[in-house]
Amino acid sequence: MGKAILFSAPSGCGKTTIIKELMQYFDCFGFSISATSRAPRGDERDGVDYHFISHDEFRRRAEAGSFIEWEEVYPGTCYGTLKSEVERIWDEGKVIVFDVDVNGGRNLKRHFGDQALSIFVMPPSVEVLEQRLRSRGTDSEEAIVKRLGRSAEELKQAPHFDVTIVNDDLRRAVDETRQVIEKFLNE
Ligand code: ADP
Ligand code: 5GP
Repeated sequence: MGKAILFSAPSGCGKTTIIKELMQYFDCFGFSISATSRAPRGDERDGVDYHFISHDEFRRRAEAGSFIEWEEVYPGTCYGTLKSEVERIWDEGKVIVFDVDVNGGRNLKRHFGDQALSIFVMPPSVEVLEQRLRSRGTDSEEAIVKRLGRSAEELKQAPHFDVTIVNDDLRRAVDETRQVIEKFLNE
């Protein structure tokens, strides 16, 4: 068993942005490509950002036990961590990076224990979170409302994570995250 870094936060807090920066810095990182039943957004690519599959296919894989964890994060939209991704990345001798919702983050931390560092990405405020979701320009109004509606409950779960990073200034947040990860990897 190798090591893993889990990133969780409400949608729009900046997980993807921070992970992309860190992937360029840490050669040892392998990103766990989740499966989802939602459609690609913006310039997302199948097999790179997610494995985009139909709802029926998602159910079939869940029943076949292909996931370590999965959640219906928004009504009708499921996301799951594939066992095959964990095997693939550890077989390459890499550290797995997960981008999962708050429930998924807590479940994976329980699963991996001390092998994993769980990081909660906090927005500077709920107002800024809303602005970021809107300015990302990739979600419908309905999707934005769903995401914001879930965020208050998710933000309350920050104390259950090993570390909280406030994503105010991106450079500062990335530097702080990098330092925390370096310490964890050297332990
Ligand atoms: P998540 O992956 O958590 O859903 P994203 O990484 O997609 O969030 O970020 C949401 C939006 O906020 C994107 O448009 C991104 O460019 C922007 N963003 C992320 N971090 C910052 C930051 N520190 N300052 C300003 N904008 C940011
Ligand atoms: P998005 O649609 O913005 O890409 O993702 C919505 C939410 O689903 C985010 O909080 C993201 O971290 C989460 N998510 C992505 N993949 C997984 C996964 O495999 N499992 C769980 N539980 N959540 C995931």
